[in-house]
Amino acid sequence: MPSIFTHEFNTPVYKGKVSFNTGLFINGQFVDGSGRNYHRVSNDKVITSVSEGTSKDVDLAVDAAEKAFETTWGLNCPGNKRGLLLNKLASLMEEHTDELAALEALDNGKAFNLARSGDVTTAIDCIRYFAGWTDKISGRVIETTEERFTYTRHEPIGVVGQIIPWNSPPQLSCLLGRLHLLLRQAIRSFLKPSEFTPLTAIRMCHLVNEAGFPPGVLNVVTGYGNTVGSAISSHMRIHKVAFTGSTLAGRKIMEAAAKSNLKNVTLELGGKSPNIIFNDADLEQAVNWARFGAFYNQGQSCVAGSRIFVQEGIYDEFLKRFTEKTRSIKGPQISKIQYDRIMNYIDSGKKDGAKIHTGGERHGNEGYFIQPTIFLDAKPDMRIFKDEEDVVRQANDTVYGLAAAVFTKDVTRAITTAHKLKAGSLWVNCYSVSGPNVPFGGFKQSGIGREMGEYALNNYTEVKAVHVNLGMKMM
Ligand code: NAD
Repeated sequence: MPSIFTHEFNTPVYKGKVSFNTGLFINGQFVDGSGRNYHRVSNDKVITSVSEGTSKDVDLAVDAAEKAFETTWGLNCPGNKRGLLLNKLASLMEEHTDELAALEALDNGKAFNLARSGDVTTAIDCIRYFAGWTDKISGRVIETTEERFTYTRHEPIGVVGQIIPWNSPPQLSCLLGRLHLLLRQAIRSFLKPSEFTPLTAIRMCHLVNEAGFPPGVLNVVTGYGNTVGSAISSHMRIHKVAFTGSTLAGRKIMEAAAKSNLKNVTLELGGKSPNIIFNDADLEQAVNWARFGAFYNQGQSCVAGSRIFVQEGIYDEFLKRFTEKTRSIKGPQISKIQYDRIMNYIDSGKKDGAKIHTGGERHGNEGYFIQPTIFLDAKPDMRIFKDEEDVVRQANDTVYGLAAAVFTKDVTRAITTAHKLKAGSLWVNCYSVSGPNVPFGGFKQSGIGREMGEYALNNYTEVKAVHVNLGMKMM
């Protein structure tokens, strides 16, 4: 039975009725999934039902993607035309910014302004940036000998499956951050949004149709990780998986890729990022950025600066100001599962001997709200740090390496520390700033490969070397 989302938004910023089919998006059509519809619950309330896909739907999406590539897409559609379509989609999103932000806020439980600036606007910027690349993918001529003409071609990698999470960088920008890449490179693809936040992805498909993309270029199959997600990662006709999510699921995806067709895998995974505050830092700015870094989207950010190291001399003052600034933070966690997981972490932190300085309890009686929580002395040797060497050792003492930050006015110390920290994104005197033209990804168990910027381009092509004989004779 077709599932329809209908909601009358009546927020201070956005008012209006939104109604659309929440079926799977395959070959340009909204269709019922072959599983059962499931309820999308946000903050303890059912907001709609969504089609559940299965491996059968993944097969149909791959068929549609392959057909599109052979007919209307791929190299049959010149790069500049793909760029125009992407820009048209970006313009449609601009027209629908508030609606998309309201939808994301409802589905995800995040603040409207965050969804607007963090998700929708970022997504539009990504699309526009990569729309500019659509007609700029080129190979090289490689000098060999006078008797040989050798050049490279960057050919689309094949059907790409994208599996994305619900959190931050928020679902929508993840979706579009990847969508642009695929469309740019004439790739046909499909996407599995998180079962927790499918709505903006589905709504986007309506805009994809309105922009005039040929059917099958983008397909969206909603559903669960252990069904749709694993069907994607073990599919024999999918040649690449671009995954964003937990390290646990990333590992399973690599395993499935290895056991099936050895598909190319890029992984954007979790982190436990250090934020280092030296005693010569601008304290007020350091506190403000640390608050933003740790609690953006209620801490539901892969780059969250959840381990803050403060140098001796400023510790008490930093803690006082930081504690004051965090009190006002309010917002729910995405789901009951996540709520329970965090409460369990808080319990085990206490059991392991860390001191709760503030928070640590449920906030209110409704939904999945948790008080902003600060632990002190998270490990016996993690108190106040003395010097650069000491803090670099502690900061790098993790299996993750997604991001890190350093606050100091000493430029030499800033740069030398930044270079010693093992992380894919490094901020000096700021936190969690980026852009569509800047690469993003992790060291160690935070991931493999880079998305965004020019660095991401090669993830989606196969390089072919062509050798032409201009006069060599074989005896
Ligand atoms: P998750 O790994 O549970 O789920 C992510 C996606 O993978 C979902 O669509 C889910 O359905 C799917 N999935 C789950 N198990 C799967 C399996 N076995 N095979 C295939 N697909 C599977 O993560 P989450 O809870 O949705 O998201 C939070 C995690 O994502 C955090 O660890 C966060 O740090 C990480 N994250 C990383 C980045 C980054 O760019 N590095 C960005 C955002 C979020």
